[in-house]
Amino acid sequence: MKQNRRNFIITSGLIGGAVLTPSLFNNAFGKNINIIGENKKMKFTFKPYTLQLKHVFTIATSSRSTTPVMLTQIEYDGIIGYGEASMPPYLGESHETASKFLSKVDLSQFNDPFKMDEILEYIDGIDEKNTAAKAAVDIALHDLVGKIIGQPWYKIWGYDKSKTPNTSFTIGIDTPEVVKQKVKEATAYNILKVKLGRETDKEMIETIRSVTDKPLVVDVNQGWTDKHFALDMIYWLNERGVKMVEQPMPKTQLDDNAWLTEKSPLPTFGDESVQRIPDVIKAHGIYSGINIKLMKCTGLREAHKMVDLAKSLNLQVMLGCMTETSCAISAISQLAPEAVWGDIDGNLLISNDPFDGIIIVDGKVTLNEAPGIGLTAVRSF
Ligand SMILES: [Mg+2]
Repeated sequence: MKQNRRNFIITSGLIGGAVLTPSLFNNAFGKNINIIGENKKMKFTFKPYTLQLKHVFTIATSSRSTTPVMLTQIEYDGIIGYGEASMPPYLGESHETASKFLSKVDLSQFNDPFKMDEILEYIDGIDEKNTAAKAAVDIALHDLVGKIIGQPWYKIWGYDKSKTPNTSFTIGIDTPEVVKQKVKEATAYNILKVKLGRETDKEMIETIRSVTDKPLVVDVNQGWTDKHFALDMIYWLNERGVKMVEQPMPKTQLDDNAWLTEKSPLPTFGDESVQRIPDVIKAHGIYSGINIKLMKCTGLREAHKMVDLAKSLNLQVMLGCMTETSCAISAISQLAPEAVWGDIDGNLLISNDPFDGIIIVDGKVTLNEAPGIGLTAVRSF
């Protein structure tokens, strides 16, 4: 049985005639850190990688054409778990900070990868912040343990894969010509997400409405600072087929966000204001729902707890992402059956994805049977 699992994992790395064996990965990463158990070794490795974006990506506060990520793996008994930290610059992490953090990771004190709580509490305690670097370890550990069990995490958690939501496809702020082109490229998606929070908000919506009548969700990224203006905008958007508003006002304006949510005809979701478990409790009464992202919350272990906590507080759950490879996207997708909204398109925005994993079919997040986080192929990186 063990040999079968190992063969599956190695075979699953077959792409373009290249088989990625554990030894090849060790050479590529050049660093073997952790040894656990008397006879079995656990190797944790990490490597910087830069995602190339298909389009220059603009939100209310910045523009960029690349995203730095850190790709990680934990190898144990011939099985490899893959992980990733995505670090868009505005969140404060980088190749340098992640390298510094991950260099401190020492799993030699643990003798069993199934002790996930203990291992990940240790990771969380190594240093403050570094939530993406922590997620890179968490995701690799989940992938490893799921592969050892032989099941994907949505099944381990008991979720129904038929209940996954549509994912929205994000249209960044741009000129009307580019926006129209992006909308045309998004024909495979049933919901479009529009970045707002600038002077051109109404122009953006009208440009999109000139080429499609698909349902829209909008993300203001804290861009509206006056609650009356925000409410007027939401009524205007509601008349134009918008279904939800993400982070309409600055996260510091708690009372204004609560006022807006109470009066808004559309549900509001906290994103920048919701990082980790304590923020879920704070979001109660302020927003209609929360946007959970692995890079904010340190990974799947905490994200899973946040989903349960949000549901107990009658907060709707949306799942989000950064620009990421199919590694982190497939990981967050394991929680998709519990979400009302999916915004899990980060891998679709890049041109150099080293992984194949969860895919979108007819606009819907579609889980597969691959054990762990659902990766189906790995190319060299
Ligand atoms: Mg957002």
